Amino acid sequence: MEKADIKSMLPGEIEAVLAEMGEPKFRAKQIFAWLARGARDFGEMTNLGKALQEKLRERFYITFPEIQRKQVSKEDGTVKYLWKLMDGNAVESVVMHYKHGSTVCVSSQVGCKMGCVFCASAHGGWIRDLKASEILDQVIFAGLDLNIRISNIVMMGIGEPLDNFENVIRFLELVNHPEGLGIGMRHISVSTCGLPGMIDRLGELNLQLTLSLSLHAPDSETRSRLMPVNRRYPEEEVLKACERYFNTTGRRVSLEYAMIDGVNDSDWQAVKLAEAARRLGAHINLIPLNDVENSPLRPSRNLKRFASILEAAGANVTVRRRLGGDIEAACGQLRKKAAH
Ligand code: SAH
Repeated sequence: MEKADIKSMLPGEIEAVLAEMGEPKFRAKQIFAWLARGARDFGEMTNLGKALQEKLRERFYITFPEIQRKQVSKEDGTVKYLWKLMDGNAVESVVMHYKHGSTVCVSSQVGCKMGCVFCASAHGGWIRDLKASEILDQVIFAGLDLNIRISNIVMMGIGEPLDNFENVIRFLELVNHPEGLGIGMRHISVSTCGLPGMIDRLGELNLQLTLSLSLHAPDSETRSRLMPVNRRYPEEEVLKACERYFNTTGRRVSLEYAMIDGVNDSDWQAVKLAEAARRLGAHINLIPLNDVENSPLRPSRNLKRFASILEAAGANVTVRRRLGGDIEAACGQLRKKAAH
């Protein structure tokens, strides 16, 4: 029998297997809690008997990543991890410290299919989806390594979360579960390049998380140049899906906008962006473009003016603080590349 990935299972599902094995139901919660605390082997679960530990070991495996590299920013204490997964693949996560707590930025795939021209994660393409357990591990083991409670999660690392829908939803259920880490949906953001069908499916689940749309251009022509996905799912359709998301969930969408010199930072684009945001009741997050190797794109010199046009048009705007720049931990700089 092939072993199952127990850390991707909810307590109810573990319970069902235990019942089959003739074990009491309450053990499921104990096992689930041990996994959320980072147990790597059933032997660590000291409140289970030796015989049960052995039976579990025969049926299940427990995922855990190794820290292949850890970098700490001298500027702001941001930490970047390169995790080595059990099959030898590697992904990155970043932990940022704010006054209100610590946020972990997690990856959802090894590589990415989307090919956005400004993003390092796109280089080298997509290798595989992460399992729910492997996304959860990034939260568990970052918290353990730093000995802190992670209070917020952003799914803004490597990969397109909505292109790994089932596993991402499963991860959200696991990390939110009160017997596990118990991180509230309102403390979680999911960022997408804009897949309308998947945005609708997410909306139907009516989770109280924040949806961020990586917009980056208010006009489809510019957006298609920057983000190939826009040729398949044009901006108009994506914005309509975001409007439906807002209407079903009551949660305001957030628009991410990386400011690129001479590409998406002109005045007319600010006016058009403000209009799109108004229609959606969305918040706009301007991101100073971060350097990516081999890219001819440069950070905008027009950010202040652009922001003031948005504000004058009544838009709700913030400029994202750039954290972890000295360790290439900023937006768009994460890669699946392994350490040498
Ligand atoms: N695939 C998802 C999740 C990645 S989120 C998405 O596209 O939203 C990472 C965020 O950083 C996205 O908003 C992305 O567009 C942005 N980003 C990528 N490269 C960047 C760069 N060089 N500078 C600033 N932001 C960048």
